[in-house]
Amino acid sequence: MTSKKNLTSIAKHYPKKHFVAASAVASFLLTLAILPTSEKVSASRTQVDLTLPMSDITQDDETTHESIHPIDSDRVISSTVEAAPTVPAKNIPKKSGIEFTKQYTVKNGDTLALIFQKADLSSRDVYHVAKVYDDATRLHPGEQVSFAYNADGSFKAFKHQKTKLVSNIIKKVSDDYQVEEVVREPSIEYRFAQGTIHSSLFLDAKEAGLDQTSIMNFANIFGWDIDFVQDLRQGDNFSLMYEELFLDGESIGTGDIVAAEFVNQGTKFQAIRHVDEFGRTHYYTPEGKSMRKAFLRSPIDFARISSHFNLSRKHPVLNKIRAHKGTDYAAGRGTPIRTAGDGKVVFAGWKGGFGRCVIVQHGQGIQTLYAHMSKFNKKTKKGARVSQGQVIGYVGSSGLASGPHLHYEFRVNGVHKNPVKVKLPEARPIEKKYRKEFLADANKWLAILESNQRSVLVASVD
Ligand SMILES: [Zn+2]
Repeated sequence: MTSKKNLTSIAKHYPKKHFVAASAVASFLLTLAILPTSEKVSASRTQVDLTLPMSDITQDDETTHESIHPIDSDRVISSTVEAAPTVPAKNIPKKSGIEFTKQYTVKNGDTLALIFQKADLSSRDVYHVAKVYDDATRLHPGEQVSFAYNADGSFKAFKHQKTKLVSNIIKKVSDDYQVEEVVREPSIEYRFAQGTIHSSLFLDAKEAGLDQTSIMNFANIFGWDIDFVQDLRQGDNFSLMYEELFLDGESIGTGDIVAAEFVNQGTKFQAIRHVDEFGRTHYYTPEGKSMRKAFLRSPIDFARISSHFNLSRKHPVLNKIRAHKGTDYAAGRGTPIRTAGDGKVVFAGWKGGFGRCVIVQHGQGIQTLYAHMSKFNKKTKKGARVSQGQVIGYVGSSGLASGPHLHYEFRVNGVHKNPVKVKLPEARPIEKKYRKEFLADANKWLAILESNQRSVLVASVD
């Protein structure tokens, strides 16, 4: 199937979305968004400065797709690939129907009473608002507040814009003051970026226009397969589609990576995002296998291996041949130790030469052991459930140890394996109920990714 065909079918499938075929996409990293400003609502009663449009919380419909994307589709940049996101609508802003006619930017030294006074409201209003809304007394300079009035000029509602996406509205209903949180959904546009490794992922991805957060996210997605320090080679290359978030036509930053590819020493790794019904984001291969593994390769960050798995090693303290059935990581005393996978603590205590030791039982007959700790995490008790990456204790030299280090063992059905080399089981694949939808989504995104790779290639040849 050609990608163009695929794109056309996607466009048909989502007729409401602007969709631009591959050829138009080539220049899209060069194109800057110029979006019309939204209409300003004139403020009639104001004596404080009105700097922002007031129309931002009045949505016309709370059930349609459009209400999640307050920017109307005409404003979508024509060179942007706008594919229908499969993201569930998390917080559809409710129709408040309140028109805020006065807005004020909180300044240093402002008090709620002072702001209400400037807005022609009484201290009685201040009292009632502060009584139901704790944050009213914790306004920060630079934050926006706004007011709505009844026809007779009396208090109708107060809005505190906490972040670009979150605001709280305190409204008077009969004699009652109610607090309502309004979370806006930004509109999403999709961006493409690609690059070749010359020095490091960080520098080359930055060169390709990615911000620091996106680079970290990218490294995390592939971090289970690729060691971006050890494994990187010149000529490796990367490409990705990611979200840029807009509110009222203004970019408010980048969102998730939706599709990504890294070619490392000739091997291609691809990842596609999936958001489940609870809004949790995971990355899978195009076939639906998890990008993460069920186990961390190493239970400790930034540590040096001081002694490898070796069945005929001379023991440094006992000075005689004794199998070393694990890996030693030299690290400073107190360095946190993480459990390599989800599981249950089956031992936490003193265990002879191992000193303070924790054993975690995982699924599939796998146990991991962590020895010589200086102390345990408070929650590390026999029977406790632990999740991957959770700190279970701290590096020390308890038991038979020549210096502070972690002795780490990986056992499968009671047999010791080399923790550095053992083939780690994969985390669970995409859930069955999402599978069909995910595979279709993955195909779509890979087609978009590939057509962008080609377009940029063609553009650079021209
Ligand atoms: Zn050891």
